[in-house]
Amino acid sequence: MAVLSPLTFNSLNLFPGLVHGVFSRTEGYSKGPFLGLNVGLSTGDDPDIVNRNRALMLSSIGLTRVLFLNQVHGTDIAVIKSEKDAADAVWKGQGTAPSKIFKADAAVTNLKGLGLAIQVADCQAVVLYDPDKEVIANVHSGWRGSAANIISRCIDTMVTQFGCSPASIRAGISPSLGPCCAQFINYKQEFPKALWQYKEKDRPYFDFWQISRDQLGAHGVLDEHIETMGLCTRCRTDLFYSFRANKATGRFAAVIALKI
Ligand SMILES: [Zn+2]
Repeated sequence: MAVLSPLTFNSLNLFPGLVHGVFSRTEGYSKGPFLGLNVGLSTGDDPDIVNRNRALMLSSIGLTRVLFLNQVHGTDIAVIKSEKDAADAVWKGQGTAPSKIFKADAAVTNLKGLGLAIQVADCQAVVLYDPDKEVIANVHSGWRGSAANIISRCIDTMVTQFGCSPASIRAGISPSLGPCCAQFINYKQEFPKALWQYKEKDRPYFDFWQISRDQLGAHGVLDEHIETMGLCTRCRTDLFYSFRANKATGRFAAVIALKI
């Protein structure tokens, strides 16, 4: 198996203390509808194969432990300030399983060497980094996350719990359902009115990349510190898993960690 070459955010590559990547499905051990690097255990794929994929992903960016979350499209945030906070919840490689898993849709930490993973298949993973305070976060924001503005809650957590300044924070938005494919015919029931302005004029298609950019901006993140990969998961099932394209599918991940 080749060493993986994850997609990276150019702006985050400027920081030597950071390691991160968005892992496409193009390598990996899974077969059938999960073909490639499926890292999602609750997809119906063989868990042993998923764990091999996870191990491959971690080793390719030099990590030995990572925090996966039980993502529920909510707004809870796992705050990891000490080794004790993380101890039972960290995935440490094939053949191990954490005894607990945080039910949360974002995680924030200042611990070195601990990867934060968000698994997606159309939703956004939004990675955040404050190089001044050396604090990282990873956010799962699908349309429910956008509607509830979990991004703003995560920025608030970085500010109140870790002393971060929003003007220092860098943000990267992963491949996800693009404006070309984000059709929401029931948007009037599903979205708060504040999001209606992001609809195309004549069709119920929404620009969630811009929504996230604006949610970050409204909380003081500078526009020049926000980077969007701009790849649509539904259009690019050769590279990514897409729930809209295929109901039976895997999950790809964005991972971020502070180097030891
Ligand atoms: Zn598309």
